[in-house]
Amino acid sequence: MDLITLQRIEKLHPSIRDEVKKIITECDEALTGRAKIRITQGLRTFAEQNDLYAQGRTKPGKRVTNAKGGQSIHNYGFAVDICLIIDDKTASWDTAKDWDNDKQSDWMEVVVIFKKNGWNWGGDWRTLKDMPHFDKKGFSDWKVLSKKKRDKDNYIIV
Ligand SMILES: [Zn+2]
Repeated sequence: MDLITLQRIEKLHPSIRDEVKKIITECDEALTGRAKIRITQGLRTFAEQNDLYAQGRTKPGKRVTNAKGGQSIHNYGFAVDICLIIDDKTASWDTAKDWDNDKQSDWMEVVVIFKKNGWNWGGDWRTLKDMPHFDKKGFSDWKVLSKKKRDKDNYIIV
């Protein structure tokens, strides 16, 4: 697992850090070499979320989210976005490429592993599909999460 991914895991909600490390390790083992998982985003502040929401609305660019600050599972540390790093150098969001030649695309191998471990995949959403996105089942309703109390590190108490 690369350092950037590890650092991003350490900012996720404390209750899921070990689980995410286990899932990423399982993915890297399944992909057997050329492609490795990189977490591109985990925890996102409300301000960062509002910036992202503005994109394609009050700021230039393509719309990438329907969630304002507080309305994304990332804002509570229960979601990750991933890409694949090929041969330790090139980032890839190709969902069809079979880097390890086992007749299943590497991206979909990762999807299967996350789902098996009880995570939702953004590729299953009906509107604005988000292929790099996963969030933990049972923590996918921001309205519920937003009402929880916070601990001294500002993580919600679950
Ligand atoms: Zn996401």
